[in-house]
Amino acid sequence: MPHTLSPEQLSNIIDIAENAVICTDERQKIILFNKGAERVFGWTAAEVTGQDLAMLMPPRFRPGHAERVAGFQHGERTARRMGERGTIHAVRKDGSEFPAEATISKSAAGGRVILTAILQDISERKAYERELELARDSAEAAMQAKSMFLANMSHEIRTPLNAVIGMTSLLLHTDIDDEQRDYTETIRSSSEALLAIINDLLDYSKLEVGRLDLERHAFEVRRCVEEALDLLAPSASDKNLDLAYMIEPGVPATILADATRLRQILVNLLSNAIKFTHHGEVVVSVSGEPREEGGYRLVFAVRDTGIGIPPHRLGDIFHSFTQVDASTTRKYGGTGLGLTISRRLAEMMGGGLTVDSEPGRGSTFSAAIVADAFDDQLAEHVLRDRAATVRGRRILIVDDNATNRRILMKQALLWGMSPLAAASAVEALDLVRDGHPFDVAVLDMQMPDMDGARLAAELRKH
Ligand code: ADP
Repeated sequence: MPHTLSPEQLSNIIDIAENAVICTDERQKIILFNKGAERVFGWTAAEVTGQDLAMLMPPRFRPGHAERVAGFQHGERTARRMGERGTIHAVRKDGSEFPAEATISKSAAGGRVILTAILQDISERKAYERELELARDSAEAAMQAKSMFLANMSHEIRTPLNAVIGMTSLLLHTDIDDEQRDYTETIRSSSEALLAIINDLLDYSKLEVGRLDLERHAFEVRRCVEEALDLLAPSASDKNLDLAYMIEPGVPATILADATRLRQILVNLLSNAIKFTHHGEVVVSVSGEPREEGGYRLVFAVRDTGIGIPPHRLGDIFHSFTQVDASTTRKYGGTGLGLTISRRLAEMMGGGLTVDSEPGRGSTFSAAIVADAFDDQLAEHVLRDRAATVRGRRILIVDDNATNRRILMKQALLWGMSPLAAASAVEALDLVRDGHPFDVAVLDMQMPDMDGARLAAELRKH
């Protein structure tokens, strides 16, 4: 015969429980009140046994309570809540209220219905949650206020700064001596640098408070890339870097997106690429593919042959105000906001920004966006149509940079031309002497052995 628990043993076990365990009969008179319940409510079992269960809840919840429990008892209205957990209000002996988590269940023994409620005082947890919520709300409010302040300040600073820049430009057009011109140039370039920083701060704070809205209009992908390159061509040429771009097949000619913000991303990536590259080239390539759900996913990759980024810092560079190392700041300048802004903008455009880099070899930053095509023309088709006039012409391409040669060859082939490439002036002259005729030549201006202008003169002789 199996060993069964005596009523005393059972009641001891129930008393071990941390939680309040309360049982009532079918008239809701308390028949069991464990030690846990005594601790939670402040009543002793002797005081409450035989009393109405309603005494454990705040007076305002008492009316109607009996009926609700009766309904529950008879398995009607609230039956679905049987055994379910819920938060209820309870009241202690001293009249103080507290929130409790309760599980109520019904059992029938010997033809009698018993209701059992297991309760846990959750006032501490609730208070903690409330504190947490308050802290979070005030942190958010402070953050918002700070960003709004930053946005307003940036705007305020921009106004007088624009006057400084405008006036120095006017001053430069007046009759001033060389020394004055030198000072004025410095004022202008410094104020332009300051303006760039403030613009970054303004964008950053607008992004923080979610006040940056994207526009949507039709523009040509090629033009957007070219505009970004135009802006940076002078600094690339100052550093003797080759700057090039290519648009891969499959990219729509005209897209619906925010051209200004896309150009901003490109300018950001390009100026970083130029800033951190001392020899070689910076190349933008655009690729695209249609998405199943409609529209295109376009990737704008900016590849450089610069100093690269150590692997362990790759994750950090997208954080605000972060630069690979503090000494870089002094050497290269910048705020550490460019990539943060670019990434956020790309994300707002449905894509993102990723990086691939090898120290000493260079970096590739890829900004992806999602955009609808304005019509279904692909960039390469538009180019081909525009190229009707040059179709079939022979073109001589002379450039010491292999990437540039490749891009120009590809472009010329797309236009239906017959291209011929040479890596140096000597090679080009040899080709011509060997009897390779051409209709038009594209010459690199800066080449080591002979510059473009002299080569042109030489070629003319033939
Ligand atoms: P910054 O205004 O300092 O350029 P960014 O957010 O644009 O801020 O870039 C953050 C840091 O990432 C830079 O300071 C630099 O250390 C690193 N970085 C960005 N682009 C390149 C790149 N093309 N090559 C090497 N390092 C880069």
